[in-house]
Amino acid sequence: MDDAQALRVKVALEVGSVALIAAGLLWVFLLTTSNAWQIAWIEGLLVLLGTITLVLTRKGRMRIAAFLLLSILFLILLAMSFFLDVPTASAPRVVHHYFLLLAFYAYLLLKNECEWLRMVFFFICLAAFVVFSSTYWGVATPYALAEEVRVIGGWMNAIIATGLLCITLYILQSDFVESGEAGHALSLALWHHQFELYYQPQVDETGKVFAAEALIRWHHPKRGFVLPVDFIPLAEQLGMMVPIGHWVLAQACKQLASWALKPETAHLTLSVNVSAPQFSESEFVPKLLALIECTGIDAKRLKLELTESMLVKDAEDVIAKMALLKKVGVGVALDDFGTGYSSLSYLKRLPLDQLKIDQSFIRDILTDLHDAAIARTIIALGQELGLKVIAEGVEAEAQRSFLLENGCYAFQGYWFSHPLPIAQFDAFVASAS
Ligand code: C2E
Ligand code: MG
Ligand code: MG
Repeated sequence: MDDAQALRVKVALEVGSVALIAAGLLWVFLLTTSNAWQIAWIEGLLVLLGTITLVLTRKGRMRIAAFLLLSILFLILLAMSFFLDVPTASAPRVVHHYFLLLAFYAYLLLKNECEWLRMVFFFICLAAFVVFSSTYWGVATPYALAEEVRVIGGWMNAIIATGLLCITLYILQSDFVESGEAGHALSLALWHHQFELYYQPQVDETGKVFAAEALIRWHHPKRGFVLPVDFIPLAEQLGMMVPIGHWVLAQACKQLASWALKPETAHLTLSVNVSAPQFSESEFVPKLLALIECTGIDAKRLKLELTESMLVKDAEDVIAKMALLKKVGVGVALDDFGTGYSSLSYLKRLPLDQLKIDQSFIRDILTDLHDAAIARTIIALGQELGLKVIAEGVEAEAQRSFLLENGCYAFQGYWFSHPLPIAQFDAFVASAS
């Protein structure tokens, strides 16, 4: 999530929580002054929910705040529509208007969750709105609201729900506008040469640089220096990772060709991240082979970093393409290993060269017994399968020592160097050799 998007979600959560507290308090007042004590506590529940989600949002726990707010509010609205706000001849049901609001509100808040979850919640809320709008369904209980309360409350709920719906749609609209602008800016970025590759050294147990990972950066004319996490998901969504990924590979091949000319860098291998839509493209292998041929590089110096998640969609296609690449000497590494869902039987069939232990296991490797055990297991697995193992995200000497003691001899991380522009990377290699 980029900064502007995170801010929008935060504002939406704060507005939602405050509105919930305010509406809850208004209802508590209305119900207690009408002596409907026995149902005022439900409105008290709304005030409590709003307060909890407000506190969580302020503490930066926005994901949990969003899930809590959406799910509990949905259940409370359902109960209210069924048991409290049962339509009569003089007062229609109004509480169900909030389902329409909740649908768009969830669409906004769940933007970064998986698409099916977002759509399922959206459509369930819409379905609830349609059902309660079109029927008189409801169960008469002694707790049903008194007629005069329902008339005043009806106006109140309709005004609040419509007002909040307008705010939600306004926030959603700015989200769409920004995505559109970002997409447009991304499509121009390649033409305007705004991308640059940074290189992060990979070192062996003696501290010698034997390889590098190419990491893309975007010099945005207004936003400045943009990291991949802030534009790759959008580029993937817009189908732009194919041309961008091709540019990365072309740059990487050119760089390898240039390194081959100098004795200090001729031994280097270069790893390139390849995203799922790019790898699944039918022309991926022929295009890469053409690049290798036209730059005249030694294919063995190029390594592609794939992720376990790619296997989930079409493992057979991935395996077939990997086999073709292996034939010409291109290496393949499994990036962020341990965070995906790869089955061990696939692992056996993949023509892999390297496993990259994900940095999330390295971070607490010295303090978390589970992380240490996972890292050790990955190293042992790599050894058993005859694969090289590299640890990424090494930030301290103690982490390096631990890994070394456990049989991992290749490292990448801030402890050695941050990703560097090419001139600085070359200088780093020269100074380290
Ligand atoms: P990745 O391939 O797992 O790359 C490692 C990320 O960890 C890089 O972030 C790197 O800067 C960061 N890193 C390296 N050492 C340390 C460390 O010691 N501590 C910490 N906390 N982080 C460290 P970056 O450059 O922001 O890239 C993030 C992700 O974006 C990459 O994760 C990769 O999945 C993707 N990416 C980057 N460049 C490309 C590209 O050209 N194509 C594609 N498809 N994806 C890319
Ligand atoms: Mg990588
Ligand atoms: Mg990684």
